Amino acid sequence: MESVNPATGETLETYEEPTGADVDAALEAATDAFGSWSETPIQHRRTLLADAADVLRDRVDEYADLMVREMGKPVAQARSEVEKCAWVCDYYAERAEEQLSDEVIGSDAAAHTLVSYEPIGPVLAIMPWNFPFWQVFRFAAPNLAAGNVGLLKHASNVPGCALAIEEVFRDAGFPEDTFQSLLVGSDTVEDVIADDRLRGVTLTGSEGAGRAVAGQAGGELKKTVLELGGSDPFVVLDDAPMEHTLEKAVQARTQNNGQSCIAAKRFIVHDDAYDEFVDGFVDRMDDLSVGDPADEDTDVGPQARQGLMEDLHDQVERSVDAGAEVATGGEPLDLEGPFYPPTVLIDVPRDAAAATEETFGPVAAVFRVEDEAEAIELANDTDFGLGASVWTENLERGERVAREFEAGCCFVNELVKSDPRLPFGGVKNSGYGRELSEHGIREFVNRKTVWVQ
Ligand code: NDP
Repeated sequence: MESVNPATGETLETYEEPTGADVDAALEAATDAFGSWSETPIQHRRTLLADAADVLRDRVDEYADLMVREMGKPVAQARSEVEKCAWVCDYYAERAEEQLSDEVIGSDAAAHTLVSYEPIGPVLAIMPWNFPFWQVFRFAAPNLAAGNVGLLKHASNVPGCALAIEEVFRDAGFPEDTFQSLLVGSDTVEDVIADDRLRGVTLTGSEGAGRAVAGQAGGELKKTVLELGGSDPFVVLDDAPMEHTLEKAVQARTQNNGQSCIAAKRFIVHDDAYDEFVDGFVDRMDDLSVGDPADEDTDVGPQARQGLMEDLHDQVERSVDAGAEVATGGEPLDLEGPFYPPTVLIDVPRDAAAATEETFGPVAAVFRVEDEAEAIELANDTDFGLGASVWTENLERGERVAREFEAGCCFVNELVKSDPRLPFGGVKNSGYGRELSEHGIREFVNRKTVWVQ
């Protein structure tokens, strides 16, 4: 397994893939670790999580630099990601005990009934490269707090991040093997899922990976949580506060080099606001600086792999063939490495690739609609259902529209983002289950009914 800097093409490090015997030993170690970790008082588990937050904060620059080099995230955003990981550790350090305390249903002379939340065992996390720390920590923090142990199969292009995360927990004082990174390719995953010692699987990634893993886990009757792709609508109504909307539109499409499941991808704009929005959006996208992700002033770095950029450009070309017009961008930049410019497509037909597929890069598809009803109808005209946002001066109207969206996370006058305090996840082909908040910590637990007569 190789770690390659996408901005330079330099091979950073080569790693030996574990053998079948190594994977077997890791599963055995996870099972042993679960035996004592699940019995460890939650107060102690919480303390260790708070210590993990301290480790992250102490090493923010080191880990940010690792992300910059392995997957090209702009450095300021990489530092924010490490800090957000510390936040989710602190959040569950503070809240896990209360979130997992017994829920008493009834207590009278006839019977005392309650629900207790108990850990289930080793859980496999299959994670992507785009938020290589955050996606893992939002799984690990609640699950370790709940008493489960974690096995991480990280994306093949970020093995350094995978090992660094294992190191965070080790250095925070977590018992050995409560969190292990397996540097395996996706072809090994089926065997791990089939193993009786594994109790659950969570995956963040593409729809295809989700279907494959959910199929395997379903065959083994194992619980899954899936956080898959999205094609989030960004609905600009006729009364949108335009300066604020434009600033957030650019951020929502280009954060993380445009490679985010909850990036706004389809900009659905009311006819009365259309010209002002498109002019301002194109100007602002043109103003972004594209280049070295280690440079503090860079807004958009490289795409994480050459092949991913080629796929993105293919989507742009197919959209243009279908009738879309390129308002800016639209061709790979003449730089060494997979650098794609902030791109705006207008007059995008509803059946074009940029309308129907997830565009995982800085490519915005803009649509003109006549009224609010058409905006909502188009927003929901997608197989995905992860996030959605609406922009309006009228907050009541905004909330009403947000309730009409077929999506898991709906925002008014704010870009879609994850927050440890709020449940995160999708509907339709964006997956199922929830991460974060008390909803996330209760996914991989036995919600045990207890009746005492
Ligand atoms: P993948 O979905 O292929 O990879 C995500 C993770 O799943 C990786 O750890 C990968 O391992 C693993 N994986 C892939 N296929 C399988 C499988 N059959 N069984 C078990 N594990 C599997 O994403 P890509 O990196 O290839 O990106 C392709 C597209 O996916 C992007 O362009 C984007 O549209 C979408 N995507 C969405 C993400 C999101 O946050 N929703 C995140 C990443 C990608 P390995 O790396 O070893 O293949």
